[in-house]
Amino acid sequence: MRTAWLTEFLFLGLWVGLAGLVWLLFGGAFGWWLAVALAITGLRHIRQMQRLEGWLRSGRQSQPPQSWGVWGEVFEHYYRLQRRYAKRKKRLARVIREFRESTAAMPDGTLVLDADWRITWFNSASVRLLGLAGNRDLGQPVTSLLRAPAFDAYMRSGDFGRPVDVASPTQLGHTLSVRIVPYGRGQYLMLVRDITRIQRLQNMRRDFVANASHELRSPLTVLGGYLEHLAEDEAVPEIWDGPLQEMQVQCTRMATLVNDLLELSRLETDSPGEPDEQPVPVPDLVRRIVADAEAQAGGERTIEVDLDESLGLAGIENELYSAFSNLVFNAVRYTDRGGRIRVRWYRDRDGTARFCVVDDGIGIDARHLPFITQRFYRVDPSRSRSQGGTGLGLAIVKHVLQRHDSRLTVESEPGEGSEFCCVFPAHRTRGLIDAEGAA
Ligand code: ADP
Repeated sequence: MRTAWLTEFLFLGLWVGLAGLVWLLFGGAFGWWLAVALAITGLRHIRQMQRLEGWLRSGRQSQPPQSWGVWGEVFEHYYRLQRRYAKRKKRLARVIREFRESTAAMPDGTLVLDADWRITWFNSASVRLLGLAGNRDLGQPVTSLLRAPAFDAYMRSGDFGRPVDVASPTQLGHTLSVRIVPYGRGQYLMLVRDITRIQRLQNMRRDFVANASHELRSPLTVLGGYLEHLAEDEAVPEIWDGPLQEMQVQCTRMATLVNDLLELSRLETDSPGEPDEQPVPVPDLVRRIVADAEAQAGGERTIEVDLDESLGLAGIENELYSAFSNLVFNAVRYTDRGGRIRVRWYRDRDGTARFCVVDDGIGIDARHLPFITQRFYRVDPSRSRSQGGTGLGLAIVKHVLQRHDSRLTVESEPGEGSEFCCVFPAHRTRGLIDAEGAA
C-alpha cells in the first residue's frame, strides 16, 4: 500500500483509537465518541476539498496548497499534470506560430478551410492572388469567393489527387493552379499558385514545335517529289539507285515525324471537341486499320480480329483511328516474323468498352513501362527507327484517350509479348443500329 494511503488510514485509526480511549476514561455511548472521531476526519477532507477548489479557482500559475496524506498526493499529481499540459501547449503554440510564419512568407497562397470549406486562415499571398480581405472573408465558404465552374466541380468531386487550373479573379489573363490537401479531421489546406509564366512557356514551346513542323512540311513535299522523279528518271545513272532509295526512305520518315508532331500539337492545343454526331463504328474502323497493318506486315505475322459488331463509341473518329492504328502498327513493329497479334473490341463485365491489342512480340521490361507514353521515349531506338517509328505514337494515343475520358493500360513481359488496352467509360459506349448488317 502506498505511504499516502497508509498515513490516511493511520490518521483515521488514531481518531478511532482516541474515541475508544475517551470512552474508556469517561464512559458514555461509544457510538457517540466514534461519530465525533469520524466527523473530525470528515471535516479534514471537506477542508482539503475547499483548498483544492480555491486553488483551481485562483488560476494555474500559483503553487499548490501544502498537505499530507492522499490530499498531498492529489495536489502534487494535479500540479504536475498542469505543468505538463502547459509545456505541451507552449510547444504546440510555437509549432503553429512557426507554421504560420513560414506559410505567410510563402509566395504561394495558403488557406486553411474547415469541413464546410469556410476559410479559417489565409496568408498574405492569398490576398494578392485571390483578393481576399481579413475581416470580410474569414468564415466565408471559399466556393463563394473563388467563382469558377471548374473549381466548383473540383470541390464537389472530392477527388483532390490533382490540382485544378482556374482564371485569376484579380489579374486578367493570369491562371492559378489550385490544389486541396485534406488533413486532420475534415480540414483542408488550399494551395494557390500563379502558373501564368509556366503556361506561357509551355504555349511558346507548343507553338514553336507546331510552327516549325508546319514550315518543314512544304520543303519536304518538294524534296519527296523531286526524289520520286529522279528515282524514275532513266537518265540517272544506276549507281544512284541505292542512295536515291535511301533518301526517299529518310524523306518519308521525316514527313511521318512532321505529321506526328503536328497531330500531337493539335491534340494538345485544341480543346476536346464534341463527339461526332453518329456513334463511331469502331468495328469498321478496326477492320480498315487491320487491313493496312496486314499490308505492312506482308503476311509474315498473323492478325486475329475479334470484334463486338454491335458496340460503337461516342467519340471523334479520326482521333480514334489515329490512336488504334498506332497500337496495331506498334504490335506489327515489335513482333518478329511468324508472330501472332490479336485485336479485340468488346464490352467488359464492368460496362467499360475495351480496345485491346495483344502480341507475342519482344515485350517491354517493367522499368520502361512508366515512360513509354512520353514523347520520343524508345526502349530500343534503333529498332524503332528501322521500323519507321517516330517515338510519338504512344504519346498520341495517351492524348487521344485523355480527350475521350479514357485510359491506356499496358501489360508486358520481355520475350513474351505485350497487351495494350484502351479503356472507355460505360457512358461513352453506344449501340450500333445496323449490327446484323455489319456482322
Ligand atoms: P515508336 O514510334 O518508337 O514505336 P511509340 O511511342 O509508339 O514510339 O512507342 C514507344 C516505345 O514503346 C517504342 O519505341 C517501343 O520501345 C515500345 N513499344 C510500343 N509498343 C510496343 C509493343 N507492342 N511491343 C514492344 N514494345 C513496344
